[in-house]
Amino acid sequence: MIDKIRNIGTIAHIDAGKTTTTERMIYYAGKSHKLGSVDEGTTVTDFDPEEARRGITIYSATTRLSWDGHTINLIDTPGHVDFTAEVERSLRVLDGAVVVFDGVAGVQPQSETVWRQANRYGVSRLCFVNKLDRTGADFHRAIGTIEKRLGAKVVPIQLPIGLEGDFAGIVDLIGQRSLRFEGDDGRDVVAGPVPPAMMDEVAMYREQLLEKLAEVDLVFMELFLAGGGGDEAAIHAALRRCVISHALYPVLCGSALKNKGVQCVLDAVVRYFPSPAEVPPAKAIHAGTDKTTAIAPDPDADPVVYAFKTKSDLNGEVTFLRVYAGTITNGMQLYNVRAARPERITNLSILHGAKVENLAQALPGQIAAVRGLRYTVTGDTLALKKKPLLLERLAFPETVVSMSIEPKTSADKKKLDDVLAKLAKDDPTFKCMTDAETGQLIVSGMGELHLEVIKARMLGDFNLDCSVGRPRVSYRETILREGVGEAVVDRKLGETTQYARVKLVLEPAPKVKELAFINRMPSAGPLLDRYKLVIQESAMSAASTGMLAGYPMIRMKVALLDAEQRDEESDAAFASAASIAVRHALEQAGESLLEPIMKLAVETPESGLGDVLGDLQSRRAEIRDVHVEGELRTVVALVPISELFGYANHLRSLTQGRGSCSMEPHDFVEVPTTIAKRHEL
Ligand code: GDP
Repeated sequence: MIDKIRNIGTIAHIDAGKTTTTERMIYYAGKSHKLGSVDEGTTVTDFDPEEARRGITIYSATTRLSWDGHTINLIDTPGHVDFTAEVERSLRVLDGAVVVFDGVAGVQPQSETVWRQANRYGVSRLCFVNKLDRTGADFHRAIGTIEKRLGAKVVPIQLPIGLEGDFAGIVDLIGQRSLRFEGDDGRDVVAGPVPPAMMDEVAMYREQLLEKLAEVDLVFMELFLAGGGGDEAAIHAALRRCVISHALYPVLCGSALKNKGVQCVLDAVVRYFPSPAEVPPAKAIHAGTDKTTAIAPDPDADPVVYAFKTKSDLNGEVTFLRVYAGTITNGMQLYNVRAARPERITNLSILHGAKVENLAQALPGQIAAVRGLRYTVTGDTLALKKKPLLLERLAFPETVVSMSIEPKTSADKKKLDDVLAKLAKDDPTFKCMTDAETGQLIVSGMGELHLEVIKARMLGDFNLDCSVGRPRVSYRETILREGVGEAVVDRKLGETTQYARVKLVLEPAPKVKELAFINRMPSAGPLLDRYKLVIQESAMSAASTGMLAGYPMIRMKVALLDAEQRDEESDAAFASAASIAVRHALEQAGESLLEPIMKLAVETPESGLGDVLGDLQSRRAEIRDVHVEGELRTVVALVPISELFGYANHLRSLTQGRGSCSMEPHDFVEVPTTIAKRHEL
């Protein structure tokens, strides 16, 4: 039943204890018979040898748990700042996230980033303040940082009994009882009375809980004002409404490592998080139209399935899916709407880390893995051919920075190709290509930091010996106006004459992302189909690189107006005529250089705002917005990427380490002439 499903993940700053908490959840739910340990490299979710060795989670793995009559699909998300694409694609399919905080440090920079990402995807949240056994742990101070730095309305629903070395258990404010975690690995949750010394504190925080609920929940307010509201079921129900509407975030506490409090997190997950039927329905568009439809999670409806991740392993490729509508079974033929190709569902399963559990079917809201899909990549929708719906794709924007890579030896070249192919497959925001003119290998990505990480992985993790160039801006070129070009090739080769005439026009097309080709030749023309294809291929290839500085051309249509053939041996003649015609047309059309503009979000304490704004002005920034959340300010600005190299570091020194930023590609706009001149572009 769909109302018993919870699709959740854990998100956190690196080292807050996300993997340990996840591992405990799996263990208590009975899936894993032995408690894994991050420190010994034996956890279920971190099964990539690379991850186990480094003790961090890079790739998201999925696991299904049963808890209190519910199915929890647990999607592990990476906690490292540089794997944004991974975090985002997981958040896209989550309905709830447990945000794990370090009980000593409270909110850390990456907690802020993931919190905001969760805001963007409308994911419900609970907070788990972990590591209360550590020296210096302070539950209330940690809560204070969540309120202040995240500007989030939170309320503790538990209190710790003792702290640091004396951390012994938890008081449940709703049930007004103590909970201790005994037996093997804290498996047995033993309830008892509230410790007498904590009576006053518990009464105070319980009252605070009821008041906060009454403030944000109308139904509860009525109960509260009528003198009721103390009833456990009523509190749970109100908390559930608040979590689903994001009005209030409950805070739990514990120590995953010392096996305390994790079962309560599972209880809270099934109690408060929405089922897939309770989140706003996903939106899809009918392919080729602007018509949108809401996809209700109906098991009897036509299937609509979203591919949120692909990963290659030794046995081939696994695709992770979330079912939005319909019932998916093995052998079912679906249709990849983007690729316009059929795909057959096989090996429907759930992966528990490296273990496989076969599934007979997957229902709406369910997360599953399949093997053997041939055309499906991250972000694709599988549906029926007769009803081609496209769920909103994860927007992985164009790459904006690039760097060259040169292997030191020819043996490294082969290895480099393999590694690059592997990296590109698993990370949709990373591209590699060979420069047609210089033969140099160029990798490009979403920003300086992104390339830094790729470089570190290639040189460190994969042990490649190669020299890597400095990051550079990936410019684009486009045409200024329409340009017509015509070319005739008429040459004698031995006994035969080759003849071809091609006329075409290049037109600015702001809505076309890259290039488009149209055939406008009168249909009666006797030109062989073969030549039309040759012309198209050659014209598009010639039009793909600009004449200004050799960057890729975008936002342009190439239309074939006319062509003439005289004999049948002239493929080569048509290819050169098309290419020359494009060059003529480009000369007439004129070109401009476009630079990538980033949408930059800078988070800074109020005290640093002036400096941040001043600095942005000097970087050709266009300030769009300044959000206020508690004492935190978020500046949103559009800034050319050429002005942003080294920015993250600069920002840190500008704000004494408190500021952080994230950026994403926004648009390409013409480089101002003064700037182009200064940089000799
Ligand atoms: P992640 O990076 O957020 O996945 O964090 P991990 O689960 O890998 O934990 C990072 C480190 O903190 C590891 O050495 C864990 O053993 C340790 N750790 C996790 N939870 C706790 C806890 O509750 N208390 C203490 N003292 N250490 C913990």
